[in-house]
Amino acid sequence: MVSLTYEYKAVPTPEQVQIIEHTLTVCRKVWNFALRERKDWINSRKCQINACSIISEYIIPADAPRPTYAQQCQTLTAAKKECPELKTVNAQVLQQVLRKLETAVLDMGRKGMGFPRFKNRYRMRSFVYPQLGKSQFLRGNQIKLPQLGWLEYVKSREIPDGFALKQARIVRKASGYFVMLTLECNVNVPDTIPDGHPIGIDLGLDKFVATSDGDVIDRPRFLSSLHRKLKLLQRQLKHKKKGSNNRHKLNRKIARLHQRISDTRKDWQFKLAHKLCDGVGMIFVENIDFRLWAKGLFGKHTLEAGFGQFLSILKFVCWKRGVYFAKVDKNYTSQVCPQCDAHTGKKDLKDRVHSCPECGYITDRDVAAAQIVRNRGLSGVGRILDNKQIACGDDLTGTGNRLVKSLRSRKKGEEACLKTAS
Ligand SMILES: [Zn+2]
Repeated sequence: MVSLTYEYKAVPTPEQVQIIEHTLTVCRKVWNFALRERKDWINSRKCQINACSIISEYIIPADAPRPTYAQQCQTLTAAKKECPELKTVNAQVLQQVLRKLETAVLDMGRKGMGFPRFKNRYRMRSFVYPQLGKSQFLRGNQIKLPQLGWLEYVKSREIPDGFALKQARIVRKASGYFVMLTLECNVNVPDTIPDGHPIGIDLGLDKFVATSDGDVIDRPRFLSSLHRKLKLLQRQLKHKKKGSNNRHKLNRKIARLHQRISDTRKDWQFKLAHKLCDGVGMIFVENIDFRLWAKGLFGKHTLEAGFGQFLSILKFVCWKRGVYFAKVDKNYTSQVCPQCDAHTGKKDLKDRVHSCPECGYITDRDVAAAQIVRNRGLSGVGRILDNKQIACGDDLTGTGNRLVKSLRSRKKGEEACLKTAS
């Protein structure tokens, strides 16, 4: 099963804009109500049973179960009798809001995410039609959606053959409305086999990417000029009165600029990912949790660089181009020599050159780290670097060539056994 999401710019009529905005409002109300219900339940269980809460809380009976998706769906259906506004929106769209809340609550435990937030009108930005059924919903550059009718969109690319429309999400962005189509095709794609020319990739703040082949790619400069522009606008914000029209206008301007930055960055990252895939059979990257980086010393720069997004883009592009992609252990990539496997000790951030006291290998520090990543990746997939593929080198290094050594010693053992047998 392959599923893809294609994003198109929507061209809604003024009536359709009204319906979209109305749907977003109702979705937001449902989200906030359901979140309040869950919060109240949690708050009522905060203090001990024989004590009173210092802050006043709703008293919810001790045997009342925790609100769940299924139970909140039932409440929603019942509420439609009293609240006719709920009937004006597709039922499945509203259920998806509750489902998303359930996911958000579960993600707190699973992924360590924060508590879901109440949403104001700027924060509720999308809704989804989860099932578009079997009938034909696409015609030319239009899509038929419940309540909205035929919605026109800019068909910037063809929908691939053999794919069926699964769901459609309407998203409001600063630059207009977009429709995201999830397409599915019932084929099994075999996993990519690790084969071909391998490269390792080291991500950094100084240089965005260094590859084991010695290519070094800088951080894009155009983003920093856009960031300066953004800062200027954000400074103006504090002079505008809260709730004023001018403030609203400036906020819109900031939002558009934010989107331009994120679009530009994404475009650049896609192009870079394709470039890295050219003539390459395997790509290995460090397994880094960038959320921890973002919290640490380099916080802002890490977020600006968007490493996490780049890795997921790279993974997707590799999949699409048939390039093997894997993550490897990240520890000590800057402290080992890629040529002779010797520990060279910790480097300072300002040491830009790797020079090995054992074998005299000298190269860029980030390139050396990328070569370690490549060597680790190769040993992870059980492959050994050809002499052709490495500039000058004898053996697979960087991971301790334990695998190779164990294979060799086993072979020796077998030979010895054969000798004694004969
Ligand atoms: Zn060395």
